[in-house]
Parts: sequence; C-alpha cells; structure tokens
Amino acid sequence: MVTAESVKTRARELGFDLCGVASVEDHPRLPFFRDWIDRGYAGEMGYLARTAERRADVRVLMPSVRSVVVLGTLYNTDRPYSTEVRDPGEALISRYAWGDDYHDVLGARTDALSQWMVQVHGAPLETRVYVDTGPVQEKLYAEQAGLGWVGKNTCLISPELGSWVFLSEILCSAGLATDEPGFDQCGTCTLCLDACPTEAFPEPGVLDATRCLSYLTIETKAAIPVVERPGLSNHIYGCDVCQDVCPYNHGAPVTDDPVWQPRVALDRPRLAELWTRSDGQLRNAIRRGAMTRVRVKRLRRNMAVALGNRGTAEAAAALKPALAETVGTESVDEPLVAEHVAWARARLGAR
Ligand code: SF4
Ligand code: SF4
Repeated sequence: MVTAESVKTRARELGFDLCGVASVEDHPRLPFFRDWIDRGYAGEMGYLARTAERRADVRVLMPSVRSVVVLGTLYNTDRPYSTEVRDPGEALISRYAWGDDYHDVLGARTDALSQWMVQVHGAPLETRVYVDTGPVQEKLYAEQAGLGWVGKNTCLISPELGSWVFLSEILCSAGLATDEPGFDQCGTCTLCLDACPTEAFPEPGVLDATRCLSYLTIETKAAIPVVERPGLSNHIYGCDVCQDVCPYNHGAPVTDDPVWQPRVALDRPRLAELWTRSDGQLRNAIRRGAMTRVRVKRLRRNMAVALGNRGTAEAAAALKPALAETVGTESVDEPLVAEHVAWARARLGAR
C-alpha cells in the first residue's frame, strides 16, 4: 500500500528536492483566481479564463481525487542574478529557460513516480500528472502541502531552497497523510514589489500579468504595446527581478543536474551577437527548451526592442538593414519583427 512516506522516499530517489501532500478540502484562496480573471489581469491568456471553473478545485478535474502530491525541483544554477548583471549589452533571459524544457523533464520524472505509486499500491489507484500547463493552481496546493508559501511576488518560496523551484503534481485517489501547510514568511518585506520595473503588482500577492515583462515577452503574440517597450530594457525572455531581490534567494542552493545548466548559446549571451545569429542557429539554441514557446519570430521581436533600448553604436550596427539581406535571417523581414526593428531604429536615432 502506498503511503505518504514511501512516496516521499521514492520522490527523492527520482531526483525531486521537495515532496509534500495536500488535502483536497476547500482551500480559501482557490476562488480568488476567478476574481483575478474578472479584473482583467490575465490579458490575452484566454485559456486561463476558459479553465477557471476547473482551476477552482482539483475535484472537478478528477472526482476520485483524495490527495495531491506536490513535487519541487530546484533549478538554480551558479550564474549571477539579473540584478547583478552590470553590462546592459547582455541579453537577459529568465533563469528557468536556460536549460532543457521543464515540461518534458519533469513530465517524465513525475510520470515515473506516478507509475511507481500505481505499481506498489496493490489495489486500484487512479492518478493524474500535471506539470505547470494543467488547470491546477499548483502554487496554492504546494503551500498546502508544506513546500513553502506564496510570497508577495506570487512565487512559491521554499524557506530552504528559495523560489527557483519547478512544481509538478500528482492527483491521487488514495487518502495519503497530509503535511502541515506552509505559512507566510514575507513579513514586512516589500523588496519584490518595489523592484518591479513595470509596477505589475497592484497589491501584494496580486500580479497584473498584462504589465509583467514575462507576459509581454512570452504571452503577447502580436506587437508589444509601444508604451511598454522601454520597460523591457534588455530582457528578451521573461524577467526574474522580483525573485532576484527576494532575501530567500540570497545564498539559495544551486543544482548540478545537467538538464538545468545553461546551454552554451544562452549562457549570458551578448544581445548584439545573438541578434546576428541566423534563424537556424536561434532555432537550435532554443530547441527542446522552454523558449520554444515564443519561437524565433517573437524572440527577434523582443531582441529588436532590447536593442532599441540599449542605445549604443553596437546596437545600431546590429540593427543595420544588412542583416535582413543575409541568407537565413528571413524572420527579420516578418512584418511583426520589421515593425519592432523600425521602432528600435527610431529610438536609437532619436538619441
Ligand atoms: S517578473 Fe519582472 S515584470 Fe514581472 S512582476 Fe516580477 S519584476 Fe515585475
Ligand atoms: S522579496 Fe520580500 S515580500 Fe517579496 S516574496 Fe521575497 S520575502 Fe516576500
């Protein structure tokens, strides 16, 4: 018979850093999600609104569920935080996107744990695995499972590991012993709220995603609103600022798991140099990584904005029309990219 303790032992053997069990009882903060959608904070992410009812309670997803096993995987590596990078010529990419795609890696590892649970249980056991993309409010269940607490920056913070932690879950029909929920340890700190470059937090613990650089560089499929472009600075994929400044991430442990180490092409790349790569080279750089979400066209769009913000001769040289004439850089001619390049040139020219 599978138990909470045996699941945790097996989770450690499979490489998970954290494992806890949450009950499926009503959790008071789950309904807030609907309110958040209604306030318009989800922007273009229509899939969130479409799945709001299912996200309200895992029992809607799987009526037989009695426990939620929540797993945490540290992905921090030894590179400096974006707030420590002093060279504005460096392209900033969110830490979670440097290595392999966590959906694939954690999907396989969480599946392996789920299959082991079914095998050892000795009685029929229903399980269902989710990694980020499923309609589960995973941070709230992680808090309920004792992995940490949801901070004012809306990230799950482990007191031991910080917030550089991927989450995955197994919904399970067995009633496992649950853990004590985590409790808020933010106290009077407001560092994340104060550091956000776009003032994306209307109140502590509430993110207006439409203002967040992660949303603007990843979720926005069309043009980035002109008014928001200067705020991108040199961020070309996501943003880590509200995590970089969090005291619980200072001195956070790092992992030596090869799958999370930065790929050579994404390891502190120079913005101007990255821009001059061919589409094929960019595609190779992001293949099987989280950045495939934006593909080359939107990555170029983001890079063009960052070059315009950079405001140097190096950036101006990179944006010269010559690149569009180079074989293998067809994405530069895409109307979406071309419009952002024109904006960047005008911004550079205005200086
Ligand atoms: S990720 Fe960046 S832009 Fe988004 S809320 Fe955090 S600090 Fe603000
Ligand atoms: S920076 Fe401070 S307020 Fe923000 S999540 Fe970390 S501890 Fe909480």
